[in-house]
Amino acid sequence: MSVQSMTTTKTADVEGTLQQIYALAANGADIVRCTCNEQAAAEGLAQIVPRSPVPIVADIHFHVEMALAALEAGVQGLRLNPGNLRKPEEIKLVASEARDRGVPIRIGVNAGSLHPDIYKRFGGATPEALVESARLELAYFEEVDFSDVKISVKASSVATMIAAYRLASETFDHPLHLGVTEAGPLPGGLLKGTAGIATLLAEGIGDTLRYSLTADPVEEARAGRQLLEALGLRERKGLDLIACPSCGRAEVDVIKVANEAQEALRALDVPLQVAVMGCVVNGPGEARHADLGIAAGKHRGHLFIQGQIVRVVKEDEMVEALVDEAKKIIAEGIEARLLARDLSAEAEAEADRAELLDARGADANNAHVRIEKIRRHAEE
Ligand code: SF4
Repeated sequence: MSVQSMTTTKTADVEGTLQQIYALAANGADIVRCTCNEQAAAEGLAQIVPRSPVPIVADIHFHVEMALAALEAGVQGLRLNPGNLRKPEEIKLVASEARDRGVPIRIGVNAGSLHPDIYKRFGGATPEALVESARLELAYFEEVDFSDVKISVKASSVATMIAAYRLASETFDHPLHLGVTEAGPLPGGLLKGTAGIATLLAEGIGDTLRYSLTADPVEEARAGRQLLEALGLRERKGLDLIACPSCGRAEVDVIKVANEAQEALRALDVPLQVAVMGCVVNGPGEARHADLGIAAGKHRGHLFIQGQIVRVVKEDEMVEALVDEAKKIIAEGIEARLLARDLSAEAEAEADRAELLDARGADANNAHVRIEKIRRHAEE
């Protein structure tokens, strides 16, 4: 599975575009798309492609000349929208040129720019209409013996997009590029993209993906990477911060501590699962699978590694202690850090836990009394 994103710079701005491409690659993008809408953009691509850390796909809009210019610039892929580039002889010309250069093309169908004939024939941008558009384009490609193709059938409606990709996966043998188009700003855009892409990935559909967010494209790359990591489709390279949702038992402002920890640890870019838990009563146990974590209790933080308490720190030092321990785990490894634990920490933590349970009541609902009464009633 590859994550794709798209630059928002003018492609003619070579340095600005390269800066964005590097940022995207650093955050999980495997492929980056740049617009090729004018000659200056194509000339920019000629300088960007050899300096890019990832393959560059040129997005061609309406002009066949731009497709040919992008190929000349040395791009590793083209994206053609069948709704925009419509003349069969032009489509076949681009496909022939791509074939001769060994460059793949994505047939990028978009519900919002569907070919008017197909729109009319199907009475709208239905899943069937989107797949038909891709099929017709593919037929032109096959006429010139070109099949190095991937296909996308995007729609801004998640339900339409899911149905279209399901149909596409039954119809084509080609790789599919997933996306919910024009998903919008965060957080709704993220939600829509995830609903569509994750549903299909869970069904085994999809080979590349893009979140189309109205946000810094780095968010798109990050979201794509995190989705694949969450689904176990990509080895986790970055931080996975888990945190309890907080509740009446919480001894600290969990949201604040979790955000501070996320910010501080993101800068380290550590491949660790780190937990922030609001109380010591349930926290370390519930997050025992995490590499590292901290739970709050009695104005103190219990730092734990794989569920084992290694240190007890002051409440206002929780984030600092977490970051410090993460650095040490990276440098020395988990086993070494477990051996270096404060041997009195477990007893201290147990005392805090006991005190909290005493203060709050382990059985706040007085369940044992109620159970007794229920049993008595049953006997009567
Ligand atoms: S870990 Fe503690 S504070 Fe967090 S949700 Fe669970 S019980 Fe509540």
